[in-house]
Amino acid sequence: METVNKEYLGVPASPGICIGKAYLVGSREFQVKKTKLTEAQVEKEMARLQAAIDATRKEIQTIKQRVGQEVGFSEAEIFNAYLHILQDPLLIQAAMDQIRASRINAEYILQEIAKQLIGQFKDSPDEYLQERATDINDVVARLLRNLTGQPMDLLSEVEDDVIVVAKDLTPSQTATMRRERVIGFTTDIGGKTSHAAIMARSLELPAVVGLKNLTEVVQNGSTLIVDGTAGIVLINPNGQMLAKYRHAQQRMEQWSRKLKKLKGVTAVTKDGYRLTVAANIELPEDVRQARKYGAEGIGLFRTEFLFLNRRDLPGEDEQFEVYQMVARQSLPYTTIIRTLDLGGDKFLSRLGTTTEMNPFLGLRGIRLCLAHQDLFKVQLRAVLRASHFGKIKIMFPMVSCVEEMRQAKALLREAQKELGRRRVLYDRNMEVGLMIELPSAAMTADILARESNFFSIGTNDLIQYTLAADRINEKVAYLYNPLHPAILRLIRQVVQAGHNERIWVGMCGEMAADPQLTPLLVGLGLDEFSTGPAFVPQIKKGIREVNFAECRELAEKVMACTTSADIEALLKSLMKNEVLHDSIIPKT
Ligand code: PEP
Ligand code: MG
Repeated sequence: METVNKEYLGVPASPGICIGKAYLVGSREFQVKKTKLTEAQVEKEMARLQAAIDATRKEIQTIKQRVGQEVGFSEAEIFNAYLHILQDPLLIQAAMDQIRASRINAEYILQEIAKQLIGQFKDSPDEYLQERATDINDVVARLLRNLTGQPMDLLSEVEDDVIVVAKDLTPSQTATMRRERVIGFTTDIGGKTSHAAIMARSLELPAVVGLKNLTEVVQNGSTLIVDGTAGIVLINPNGQMLAKYRHAQQRMEQWSRKLKKLKGVTAVTKDGYRLTVAANIELPEDVRQARKYGAEGIGLFRTEFLFLNRRDLPGEDEQFEVYQMVARQSLPYTTIIRTLDLGGDKFLSRLGTTTEMNPFLGLRGIRLCLAHQDLFKVQLRAVLRASHFGKIKIMFPMVSCVEEMRQAKALLREAQKELGRRRVLYDRNMEVGLMIELPSAAMTADILARESNFFSIGTNDLIQYTLAADRINEKVAYLYNPLHPAILRLIRQVVQAGHNERIWVGMCGEMAADPQLTPLLVGLGLDEFSTGPAFVPQIKKGIREVNFAECRELAEKVMACTTSADIEALLKSLMKNEVLHDSIIPKT
């Protein structure tokens, strides 16, 4: 029975709506036969295996080059891991030995060894090794195809516009798909930072991930609606749903066209109050998107993505290359590099940190960096070196007290001295700021402002810590409310404390990207908004449509409200209908 008009909820990974036919990937199993070889055939079999290895290597090198040019060098890095697998003695030498010893055909032996290796890796508690299981699977599938000539699920062969439905997408699958033919993605596993999610955002394709068992309920060719903004997938939608989403899609497209025209405009209110709208980036190549949407610099570069999905740690030179490239590409604007914010929901297996009961309240952000000072100093030196090549500011995440800020600054001074001894140039006036994302930091903003050149309010965490509502737990999502009077009071207090000490105050949490909140945030006195690149034009537009004096009055009225429902009603009454993205204000 075909599923009809059924809605599935997943993780919104890449915004936008697409409507099209499902194309299931990864469902086809290779049929490999076991054949006994004669003594004379054994050497021929070796040559056949070697030819398949050579052909696979060539394929991977070609993909690596293409991805490097089209998507970015850090995405292309993944293919080095693939090339290593092709040389791995546990796979290749073991296969050759077994073919000789057992006189059984190469594809059968290869598949058996791969099954064992994948099984071991999958069961490993190490996240890195679990991910390697997917890589081995992908490389062995290519080897088998080259050995047998059997077709694979090759996205590059897709002829019609399709929505790819997969358990997970390997880097080589996403890289070889024909971009113009694939209009969206869904995957059963993964979160916002999974490879497929990152790739979908880079390609600007709507995507929903973490859909659990969607591949089991979708049939090839079924009609799908993928709403990557809300994280919804509809299978075989009825006419009413199709009409609703087509309408929403058209509105979004009209909007995007209109907003793209705003690329070069400044964020200035009608009465001449100038603000900055910058972009948040997660991968170095996101700078291109930031520029495309007219961001005035990078307000938050989340550097932890350099550290994830790998076995080793990025060294000083590697980090320096990335930071200086981003800083150069962002000129004439500033790049704010946030130091490592691992912990919480982003773990690094390499550090061997033990599992914590409450990771969000544990060794996260600056705490982890102060506990692993060598690791931190490598990053500090890399940022300092890059500061010679662009306009860089640095900021620390998860600061809870002034002592942490002082310790972090002391380590920065040590890093400066070390570079001085090496006669390496860096910007001696690089600004140092901190993220205000804990209630303790917000309440002591007056003290912290004396130690800081700027503040950036991280509302994603500030809300979860203030309201004791886990930001990734859907069961308490109804409590996670940016319009709670506690949150607005903290924001006001932080802005005032910053301004009293003559430092600027920005916001890089998701609240800054909500167009319904722009007039209020302007009225509360924010100096900078930093949002995902695609949200930049709309926030600029929102700022250009308001009067600073009126925003201040609005903020006064809002601060006098006693409930978030009253605040929401007040803000909604001011909004025009033109909203591109759903507001993050909960629907009551
Ligand atoms: C925040 O907490 O608001 C923030 C911007 O940081 P992250 O989302 O990376 O925790
Ligand atoms: Mg945060």
